[in-house]
Parts: sequence; structure tokens; C-alpha cells
Amino acid sequence: MDTTGSELKPHFVLVPLMAQGHMIPMVDMARLLAEHDATVTFVTTPVNASRIKAIIERIEASQLPIKFLKLQFPCEKVGLPEGYESADLLSGLDQIMKFVDASAMLKESLITCLKEQYHLPVCIIADTNLPWVGDVARELSVPRLAFNGSGAFPNLAMYIIRHRKIFDDVKDDKEIISIPGFPHRLEMTKAKAPLSVYRPGMEQFTEKRLKEERIADGMVVNSFYELESLYVESYSKTTGKKVWTIGPMLLCNKNIHEFSSRGNKASIDEEDCSLWLDSMKPGSVVYVSFGSLAQTTLAQLAEIGFGLEASNKPFVWVIKAGDKFSEVEEWLSNGFEERIKDQGLIIKGWAPQMMILSHPAIGGFLTHCGWNSTLESICTGVPMITWPHFADQFLNEMLVVEILKIGVKIGVEDPNQWATDESKNDNDVMVKRDDVAKAILELMDGGEKMRDRAQELARKGREAMDEGGSSFNNIKDLIKQFGDASKTAVVKP
Ligand code: UDP
Repeated sequence: MDTTGSELKPHFVLVPLMAQGHMIPMVDMARLLAEHDATVTFVTTPVNASRIKAIIERIEASQLPIKFLKLQFPCEKVGLPEGYESADLLSGLDQIMKFVDASAMLKESLITCLKEQYHLPVCIIADTNLPWVGDVARELSVPRLAFNGSGAFPNLAMYIIRHRKIFDDVKDDKEIISIPGFPHRLEMTKAKAPLSVYRPGMEQFTEKRLKEERIADGMVVNSFYELESLYVESYSKTTGKKVWTIGPMLLCNKNIHEFSSRGNKASIDEEDCSLWLDSMKPGSVVYVSFGSLAQTTLAQLAEIGFGLEASNKPFVWVIKAGDKFSEVEEWLSNGFEERIKDQGLIIKGWAPQMMILSHPAIGGFLTHCGWNSTLESICTGVPMITWPHFADQFLNEMLVVEILKIGVKIGVEDPNQWATDESKNDNDVMVKRDDVAKAILELMDGGEKMRDRAQELARKGREAMDEGGSSFNNIKDLIKQFGDASKTAVVKP
């Protein structure tokens, strides 16, 4: 028998896309909802659960009412190698399509589990990349909120671009197009536009994804009102839906241990990393990382390395090279590692990012502008050097550099698509070493005002999450709205 009274609390089901940049914030969301007196079922798969084992153990020890529901991911049925249960393991369109198919096959088992094992949810919050969850919600007659891990500015632009099919008839990738209906002038080329990572052959999926987004009962956004009020309002108006900003959700993590257990297991001893940072002057170190999915060519990696070296600034450089690791190792050990041993720390694999960004030694973040990384930089008051690759990242760059004025552009014009970019080969370089060094010096030596602004935003982010703050109130409101009227079909904006 449940003695915690959790059967009386509103029950939310969270269904994240199986990718680190989507799962990490949804684990934070689960904690926030549970801390605000809801119960949560977090839907995952065995491999993904094992990747976030540390955080699951921490949650279980804290006795927060969160259940991790592990559904078998049918790799074999779709012809994916066993264990390919997360987007960062995929390469090529063929594997992406199989991954999408395997995800959709979770539908029946999720319906069965929710009907049989748990008290019915009052609401499902699902990633927009999992449109089949719309069918689950309808089968159970519960409302469904859409979440895609991004902020209000990029979400608004993406909604307009995708639903109004702004770039469909544009032939020239470099033509500058104005985005209609945005609250101010916003221009972009097709090359940089967040069309979709999905390619020809996935039209049916893309259409279903758009439809389910259109008919969702509301939107949940990992951001805070004070950061993006204009775009939050406009996103709500454009979609005709209520938008709950409930972030920065990462702030539910209260200490270094909690931050370190987000995502994969770090491939560096955290103590060693901390000691290295302790030995550096405050604000002197550049942190370089491109998230969990972006892929960098071998020639580009070398160019980044030479640029870091030439900048003469201390750095922490996170390198993910997947199946090219031995070639990267060869290049690193061929003089580079020896030369930079007093200047830099190289992390090969997964870095404890939030722990690093929170360290006082960090003065700048060379980032691919994934939304989580952007928000993590804002919350730690660290200004950015922006190097977007794909998806919403060019939009996030605009927000950071042009609107919030807390970053400098490295100046990349070319997208570097995740997993499907066959136009790139190992010799391709998009940003030259001199430009890497120049951007680092610009930010580290002349970015005082940007740093001040970033720190001010960090303060506002904390306030939003504190008792009585905008995000705190929105979490309460969201739980109340669905808890009070668990059969509400449409939530008015
Ligand atoms: N991350 C991390 N260590 C790494 C790479 C990424 O902790 O070595 C975390 C990072 O802190 C962020 C998430 O993974 O929370 C990446 O999400 P983001 O939206 O920045 O980028 P994506 O990986 O989705 O492109």
C-alpha cells in the first residue's frame, strides 16, 4: 500500500525524446513537479535509464514520488544494433528513421502500462518529436502538453517557420528571408533555418508531428518569463495556447553532486577537474563544448585546437569524436597535448558541464548554442562565443548575441547537420584557427559588459525559480490546473 499519500496527488506522465538534450531537462522537470506536490511517471528505456542511473538513485534516495517506467526499446524489430536507444548513438538518415519507428512502437506498451500499473494521469507532457504520444493521450482521455526542450524565442520562430512552411518554395539557400508574424524584424537564410533534422522519406512523420503540436493542450517551456517575456507572449498568441515557462529547470539541482549526476557518467574524475580549475585565476578559463550530438570533422578539431593554443588563454576542451577517436588521439599525441599541458585540460567524452560552468575560474563558453547549454551559461553568468551547428541553434545565437547581448559570434555561416550531413568530409573546416583565437580574445579580454549582463540574468533566473517567482508560480499553476480539472480538454491561453 502506498503510505505517502501519492495516490491523492495529481499524476503527471513525462515522455522525453531519447536524446541527452531532451532527457536531462525532463528529469529536472520530473523533480520540479514532484517537489511541488505532484506524482510523476517518467517514461524511459533500459539503456537510457542506465545512463541516468546516478540521478535515478539520488531521486529514489530522496523519496520523491517519481517512478521510472522502463519500456523495452525494440531495436531488433527495426534493424537497429542492440542498445541504440539514444539519438547520440545514431549516424545517417537510415538509423534516424529506424529510431523514429522504434520510438513509435512504444505506444501500445505505454498505453497498457498506464492503464494497468498506475493511477491514471491528469496530464501527459511529451516531447514534440514523439507525436505518437498524442494517440496515447486520446486513448486515455487525458490532456497533453507539448515540450521540445527549447526556449520561447526559438520556439516561436520554429513554430512560424514550420507551420507556415516559410522556406518550402525558397530555392536559394543563401537568400535572406523575413519571418512574418515575429514581434520584430527577424531574418534568416534557408541554410540556417531550423527546418527539421528529418529528411525526405519522413514526410508522414513530419506532418503528424506538426499536427500534434497544433492540437496540443498547451506548451511547457524551459525558460523564464523575465528572460523572454516578449516571445512568451507572442508564442502564446501565435499558437493560441497557454504557455507555461517553468525554468531554468536546471536550478532544481542544488549542489555540485546533483549537477554532476545529470546525463552520462563523466569521462574525467570530477575531483581532478575541480582541482585543475581551482589552480586557475577567476574568470580566466574558456570552456569549449558542442553538446551531445554535434559532430566535428577531424580537420576542424585540429583548427579549434590551434586556435585555442594561439589565444594563450587557459581552456577546458571537450572532445567527442565517436568512431574517429583513434585518429583524434593520434593527432593529440602528436605534439599538441604536450605543448598545451600547462594551458589546457582536454576531456575526451562526457564532461560534467554544469559543474565546470559553475566554477569561478570559467570566464567564457565556446558553445554550439544548444538550448540547455545556452541556459546553463546564462544561469552561471558566463558569456558565450556562439558557434551554432543546426536545428534551433542559429536562433539561439541571435537571442544571445543580438537580443540579450551576452555573447560574440564566431562567425559560422554554414550549418553542420546532425548525423545526416553527407556534404561534410574529414578535411572540411568551417571556422579557421585565427577566427577561433580572435573570438576568444574578444570575449575574454573585452567582454566585461557581457559578463555583467549574464550575471544579472543569472540572478533573475534564480528569482524566477524562488518561492513567489514567475516560474515557481507557473509550476504551481500548471499542477493546479490539471489537478483540479483532470478532464479539461482545452486550456484557454
Ligand atoms: N552535456 C554534458 N556533458 C557533455 C555534453 C553535454 O553535461 O559532455 C549536457 C549539457 O550540460 C546539456 C546537455 O548535455 O545539459 C546538452 O544539451 P544541449 O541542448 O546544450 O545540446 P544538444 O546535446 O541537445 O545538442
